[in-house]
Amino acid sequence: MSDRYQSFIHTGVGQLLAKNLGLPDPPVLQRWAPGSPLVDGTVVVGGSGRLDRSLPAALKRLAIASTRAPAEGERLRGLVFDATGIATSEQLVTLTGFITPLLRRLTSCARVVVIGTAPELLSGRERVAQRALEGFTRSLGKEIGHGGTVQLVYVAPGAEAALDSTLAFLLSPKSAYVSGQVVRIGVTGSQKAGKATDKQHPLAGRVALVTGASRGIGEQIARVLHRDGATVVGVDVPQAASELQTLMKELDGDYLTLDITRSDAPQRIAQHVTRTHAGVDVVVHNAGITRDRKLANMSAERWSSVIAVNLTAPELITRALLDGGAIRPNGRIIGVASIAGIAGNLGQTNYAASKAGVIGLVDSLAGELTDGITVNAVAPGFIETKMTAAVPFATREIGRRLNSMSQGGLPVDVAETIAWYADPRSTAVNGNVVRVCGQMMLGA
Ligand code: NAD
Repeated sequence: MSDRYQSFIHTGVGQLLAKNLGLPDPPVLQRWAPGSPLVDGTVVVGGSGRLDRSLPAALKRLAIASTRAPAEGERLRGLVFDATGIATSEQLVTLTGFITPLLRRLTSCARVVVIGTAPELLSGRERVAQRALEGFTRSLGKEIGHGGTVQLVYVAPGAEAALDSTLAFLLSPKSAYVSGQVVRIGVTGSQKAGKATDKQHPLAGRVALVTGASRGIGEQIARVLHRDGATVVGVDVPQAASELQTLMKELDGDYLTLDITRSDAPQRIAQHVTRTHAGVDVVVHNAGITRDRKLANMSAERWSSVIAVNLTAPELITRALLDGGAIRPNGRIIGVASIAGIAGNLGQTNYAASKAGVIGLVDSLAGELTDGITVNAVAPGFIETKMTAAVPFATREIGRRLNSMSQGGLPVDVAETIAWYADPRSTAVNGNVVRVCGQMMLGA
């Protein structure tokens, strides 16, 4: 769905009005195109701690140009600060000492990444100082402007060499609509990085199951995972069979027309991936519905249909795949939650409960999985799809503008985040819920 305000505001008259009336001026977000470098410029590295050696090595492996001393006048694409050495609140000043003088030299759509140690693994003053980083990064995310993003990555001791896929995502235009997020690496599950033999197609040889794949966000997830080399198995309801078939033919994939709430759906999916593909590597629970009403007017059918599609089906399908041994080692389970599941939303007790439940599914499984299998979720904010096109105009405009990017995200922004989780190098990325919301002002 097109954002007419954004198109208009970039015309000559639009720019004049935006300037004089103080209207929101949504920046044009840079998005990654195949064949482009991950980062088209220099990233400056600062700070000191556990990553002194592993950070430059990771940037080198990713072919990202980095320096500790940028040439005078050079415009900068990004900043990465190793804050793992900060042990007291007084030492937090080293972070501002590095970032503040460089802020005005950043290009548009610049990236700032601060790396610390997860506070729950620490005690005393060090725990306090590391927790403080979160307030800093979330606030800078709201200040940076021009399509820039700011993230905090907490790395567990022992996981220093497992940062490649996360830096590739957070420093590149792939994370265009992700800002103000906190990511944990190696805090639960494995601290090792998996391997990708073909860096251009990290998912080569891997099979990815995507539910609700015929349109909207699911279609983009299928396209991006295919771009990254996966064989995609799309699932959607029989009514969407023709769109699903056409898309999967285009992507050289496979499909299953199936209502995921059917009682035999978990078994049929497990059997299909086992018999046809000898297992599955990536499972994306994307299918979802809304049936909004305030609770006072909520019928039993509206409640139960939303819980059934958005929550019970992902739970039961995941269980059937795990119990049947259908998810191969280094596999990925990926949920699609929503910011409504974090902040709550008027008229959405059913939907928000289902999406908070998806976060619960991540929490409950993260410590249980073995063999390098991970579980994570995305929590999209306002994404331009048929689902959000159906939202009444005033609510839609508010949803679109009330974020640090003053615009809605695109389905590809959610898909790129999922592709980062799906990357075989992301074995230490486990138990995360990352919002793809342009840092929306709703909730945490
Ligand atoms: P959409 O309605 O465009 O697509 C959803 C897909 O799921 C459709 O193809 C539909 O046929 C399929 N589906 C629905 N019920 C199914 C069932 N029982 N069995 C199999 N397939 C089924 O929605 P979208 O906007 O692309 O959303 C995709 C996911 O992202 C959903 O989980 C949604 O809750 C979530 N999400 C979307 C937004 C947004 O702004 N669009 C925001 C937050 C979260």
